[in-house]
Amino acid sequence: MAEPRLSTASGGFRVLVIGAGECGIQKILFFLGAWLGSRLTKEREGVTGITGLLVAQGLKKAGIDHAVFESEPSAGHYRPREWSIGMHWSLPFLEKILPADLWVRLKEAQNDPFHESPPKDIFPILNSQTGEVLKNMPLPRTVRVSRRKMRTLCTEGIDIQYGKTLSDITYDPSGVGVTAVFADGTTAKGSVLVGCDGPRSKVRELLVGPEKAAPSMLEVTHNNMAIEYRDAEKSLFMRKVHPIFYMGIHPDGHLVFITNVPDRDKPETWRFQVVMSWVGFCDRELDDAGRLALIKQRGESLAEPFRSAIMWIPDGTPVPSNDIGYWATAPWDNRGGRATLAGDAAHPLPPHRGQGINHCVMDVFRLTEALRAASSKDGDLAAALAAYEAEMVNRGADEVRSSLQNAQMLYDWDKVRDSPLMRNSLDRK
Ligand SMILES: Cc1cc2nc3c(=O)[nH]c(=O)nc-3n(C[C@H](O)[C@H](O)[C@H](O)COP(=O)(O)OP(=O)(O)OC[C@H]3O[C@@H](n4cnc5c(N)ncnc54)[C@H](O)[C@@H]3O)c2cc1C
Repeated sequence: MAEPRLSTASGGFRVLVIGAGECGIQKILFFLGAWLGSRLTKEREGVTGITGLLVAQGLKKAGIDHAVFESEPSAGHYRPREWSIGMHWSLPFLEKILPADLWVRLKEAQNDPFHESPPKDIFPILNSQTGEVLKNMPLPRTVRVSRRKMRTLCTEGIDIQYGKTLSDITYDPSGVGVTAVFADGTTAKGSVLVGCDGPRSKVRELLVGPEKAAPSMLEVTHNNMAIEYRDAEKSLFMRKVHPIFYMGIHPDGHLVFITNVPDRDKPETWRFQVVMSWVGFCDRELDDAGRLALIKQRGESLAEPFRSAIMWIPDGTPVPSNDIGYWATAPWDNRGGRATLAGDAAHPLPPHRGQGINHCVMDVFRLTEALRAASSKDGDLAAALAAYEAEMVNRGADEVRSSLQNAQMLYDWDKVRDSPLMRNSLDRK
């Protein structure tokens, strides 16, 4: 039943990483696309998890044996959801995790690979009904990456086993060793299993039980669109407020984020991320055209450039609606240091203050340090993971609560100015 490659333990210290990223074909398309300046990569890059890929990069750099499993069926599998991610306070930790040759290529993963991220930036926040600037938020150096390109970069040199959906975890009665069981009937043995399997983590479910592991849902409709205006003047207009990222808050609680994904010399090919969200669960009866009509109806009353950002959306643009779930990190029994969590699996949170990936990176940095110590000759895996989790569980729970409070306040006009985003910018708490 089991594939020999997966069921054979290495005998030594080995980490099983659940949830990771794309490789092969994406990488080729990514660089071919960059070379041709075409839209090929934006259409075909696959999507999977940055946390697992970074764990693998960190373990590889530390010389620790590992195996990476991903439920996506193949490297070339295409999933349409994409967004931009701001990396800021975690950048020094990312540098320590990545091998030097990938770190110096981080720019390739930027939405705009030609953009020089200044050491100090601003993040304009406007009243999207009047156009008044509410705050030019001071920002530390912030690198905004495309989720897809970042995954493609982090996949380099990592061997990923696709089509491996974790369904169970078993623990050796001797107290040493863990086995990952996959939906296809195969298994893999290791010393410790790390669940990097995202907001609806199966590993979390197996560790704390389905009821306790279930994320709560933020009651918002969060339409997250990738838009090409296909017109140089329109595209240039969209970048006037800030070249990369700005945000509008509407007195009635609407938010519009705009992020560019450009090819510098051809504005007509630039792609924008526009998020329009409001309080209330999304209407599941609506199709893309229905959602777009609703968005345009709401966009009519906005000030520029938000109004045009919405009204110029070409017909036929897909309008995916993200479910925003959160789970306040709570301790689990790690079975003597044999199973743990990292990234969104440990702390899924609302994205409005841009903290998610930064905590993922911090987790990976601390976890890699813990596993480095545990894998040494006299290493104590249980103690190393207990120390990792003690810090991460507190940090994760704090951030989930803060990001939740922030999201709720941003949708309440009377509280916007007191929100964690307005008070603390993107700083780590
Ligand atoms: C719209 C939006 C905007 C955001 N903007 C920002 C931002 O500006 N700044 C910021 O810091 N963060 C931001 N975030 C959050 C950030 O994107 C996440 O924190 C980060 O991508 C989480 O990565 P991950 O690898 O932990 O999880 P995921 O990306 O969810 O990856 C999990 C992986 O596990 C795989 N998997 C799932 N189940 C299994 C299984 N049973 N077996 C095997 N594999 C499995 C999945 O296929 C996937 O590849 C944003 C999020 C959203 C939704």
